[in-house]
Amino acid sequence: MAFESLSDKLQNVFKSLRGKGRLSEADVKTALKEVKMALLEADVSFKVVKQFISAVQERAIGQDVQNSLTPGQMVIKIVNEELVKLMGSETTEIRLKPAGDMTIIMMAGLQGAGKTTTTAKIAGKLKAKGRKPLLVACDVYRPAAIKQLQINGEKQGVPVFSMGENHKPADIAKAAIAYAAKNDQNVVILDTAGRLHIDEDMMNELIEIKGTVEVHQTILVVDAMTGQDAVNVAGMFNDKIGIDGVIITKLDGDTRGGAALSIRAVTGKPVLYVGMGEKLSDLEQFYPDRMASRILG
Ligand code: GDP
Repeated sequence: MAFESLSDKLQNVFKSLRGKGRLSEADVKTALKEVKMALLEADVSFKVVKQFISAVQERAIGQDVQNSLTPGQMVIKIVNEELVKLMGSETTEIRLKPAGDMTIIMMAGLQGAGKTTTTAKIAGKLKAKGRKPLLVACDVYRPAAIKQLQINGEKQGVPVFSMGENHKPADIAKAAIAYAAKNDQNVVILDTAGRLHIDEDMMNELIEIKGTVEVHQTILVVDAMTGQDAVNVAGMFNDKIGIDGVIITKLDGDTRGGAALSIRAVTGKPVLYVGMGEKLSDLEQFYPDRMASRILG
């Protein structure tokens, strides 16, 4: 389970805080040093950890102790609130046009991040909301990716548009939108090609799609297991092509979880969903407050 080690460590810090009737400034500082270590070990970005700790410290020292809480409980409450803030406070939805208009969503991400699986998961969510999604196979380099999208689309009961491997992704996107308009589909979801690493061709291809069709939402899929790399990837995609939100996959694995805690603060973009398994139903809305509770135990 993600965050297991972080959770254990924070609970230990809190246990020693809870027992204290009074907290000196030194007590708070010692506790926060341990919180800092725990966050760094969970692979949260260094800059994010530093800002987080100073925000908590500022509030915790010279705090207005509420009558109902011990000083220790107050520190725990502040850590909780700051964690929620770090993850963006609010739940963010994929922004859709009114049902009468067409929404175009572009999915991006490195190969293996879980993009194709997540694309089909999203289609299922949108279908459940009464939308009519069309999945579009824009990964023209891997025939297996087209096949995988078709199989997943079938499982979800969602149509898949493909033109094989011999067309440019931007042209496929354009044709898919025309097809969707004709066939009464109102959300077009483009599954684009990933690469093992960020490279210029991949970025240019995404830029070309964006220059050819009007993309309303660009969603980046990153793998939680890759830790800070996921955060760096998100930063680079955001700089190069502009993203509207991030989906973090494989949070069901035993990842240390740092990506989920850092991405919002580093990129300024919200986490929309988290992938919690390989099944097409394993996609959860991202609730910063619930995630913080999960971490704090
Ligand atoms: P793509 O190359 O980015 O399109 O990646 P795929 O969609 O093919 O996914 C790569 C692998 O990750 C597949 O084996 C998926 O089943 C798996 N996967 C995707 N999302 C999740 C998730 O949230 N949890 C787990 N455990 N596996 C996932």
